Amino acid sequence: MTRFYLPDPVAMETLGVALAGALRNGGATVYLKGDLGAGKTTFVRGVARGLGVTGRVRSPTYTLVEGYELPDGMLYHLDLYRISGSGELEFLGVRDLEAPANRIFIEWPERVAPGALPSADLVLSLAVEGDGRSLTADAITERGRQLVQAWRSRAAIGKDA
Ligand code: ADP
Ligand code: MG
Repeated sequence: MTRFYLPDPVAMETLGVALAGALRNGGATVYLKGDLGAGKTTFVRGVARGLGVTGRVRSPTYTLVEGYELPDGMLYHLDLYRISGSGELEFLGVRDLEAPANRIFIEWPERVAPGALPSADLVLSLAVEGDGRSLTADAITERGRQLVQAWRSRAAIGKDA
C-alpha cells in the first residue's frame, strides 16, 4: 500500500501526471474512491494531461463517461455517482470500453454491482485531510503492482510512504 499527501490541487494533478508516465506502455483499469470533493476528478485531469490530452478535461458528472483518443488507444473517464441502475450501465456499454491499450478511470465504482465493471488493476482511495488530500493506492493485479512501482519512482513530490 502506497500513501501520498497532496497539499493542494496542483500537487494532486502532478501526481496524476506521474501515473500517466507509468501508463505509457499500455492500458489499465483504475477505480477512484472517496467522497465528493476528495479530488478524484482533479487527479484524472492530471492523468489526461500526462497522456497528452490537450483539450478541456471535464468532469463526466452528467455524461457519466468522457472518452479521449490517445495515440495507441483510448482514455475513458467515468463518474458513476449519478447512475440510476443497471439499465443505464448497459446503455453505456461499459464492458465494451475494455481493450488492452485502454486506460479506464472510474469514479464511484461502488455505485454499481460488483462484476458489472471492468475489474480494477489499481484502487485509489482519496480523502480530505486538513487543507489537503490523502491518496492511498492498492494494487490488485500484477499490472497494478508494476504501475505503482513505476509511479512511485516518478512521483517526486507529495510522497510520504
Ligand atoms: P471529486 O472528483 O473527488 O469530487 P474534485 O477533483 O472535483 O473532487 O475536487 C474538488 C475540489 O477539491 C476542487 O476545488 C479541487 O480543486 C480541490 N482539490 C483537489 N485536490 C486537492 C488537494 N490536494 N488539496 C486541496 N484541494 C484539492
Ligand atoms: Mg469528480
